[in-house]
Amino acid sequence: MDPSEDSLPQIIPAHEAVLGEGMRIARALPNRHRRMVGAWCFLDHFGPADVAQGLGMRVGPHPHIGLQTVTWLVSGEVLHRDSLGSLQAIRPGQLNLMTAGRGISHSEESPAQRSPTLHGAQLWIALPEARRACEPGFQHVQQLPVLHLQRLRASVMIGEFLGQRSPAAVHSPLVGVELLSEGPVEAVLPLRADFEYALMMLEHEACFDGQALGIGNLLYLGAGRRELRVAAASAARCLLIGGAPFGEDMRMWWNFVARTPQELRRASEDWNAGADYFGQVHGYDGRRLEAPLPPW
Ligand code: MN
Repeated sequence: MDPSEDSLPQIIPAHEAVLGEGMRIARALPNRHRRMVGAWCFLDHFGPADVAQGLGMRVGPHPHIGLQTVTWLVSGEVLHRDSLGSLQAIRPGQLNLMTAGRGISHSEESPAQRSPTLHGAQLWIALPEARRACEPGFQHVQQLPVLHLQRLRASVMIGEFLGQRSPAAVHSPLVGVELLSEGPVEAVLPLRADFEYALMMLEHEACFDGQALGIGNLLYLGAGRRELRVAAASAARCLLIGGAPFGEDMRMWWNFVARTPQELRRASEDWNAGADYFGQVHGYDGRRLEAPLPPW
């Protein structure tokens, strides 16, 4: 359900969910008010969580199809393992992009040697029809383009922003940027009129075209805008996501993105039966996750 133009921007509250073995997170997408922003179909904000004691993040081996996962950290570390044999520590400011395509599996965990605080976001990108059964892949980007607009620092995670392009490989017109104000700031950001956009605060609060936004809400801007006024009284951090409206009848179940209920059921059954196309994750000390079967 699309809000009419005059109800934009729209504030959409994130809902609480549990990640892996008990970490509480705020899920902004999908949401009953909005499923997607461009091809972005999932947005979790996790932490800041105290991981000095206990196990920290523990998400055992689980599968994906039809999507890409983006992991982004504000603080702390996550160790990624996948069925392609990737073993990669993720740190703040670096981008992890895993392409599931026709099938992949991975695990995510706090490493034994770690910072006391874990804080970040995970996002999923739905793959378009022509790419959704592609070969799986994994890309770790150590150095992203970073640019400054007055006292606003922009890290270009995905796509192109202010003339700088991320090396991350995506398959639809898309952008993802972390915006960090390093003090009081007022700036005007250029937007593309053919993209729809949303914002999610990761730290503190800011105003976007006069609309205050704090932690725990998604601000959906819609499409047709050419600029966005940003104001923050002090240090603040947010994600700006956007893209061309997806325009395909995407369906999700658990960790799967597909087009039909039958595909989603088959993927769930295949994973639980140990189908080869999801591969094997080696080295994770724990159980793999079981797919819940869909009610259809
Ligand atoms: Mn995953």
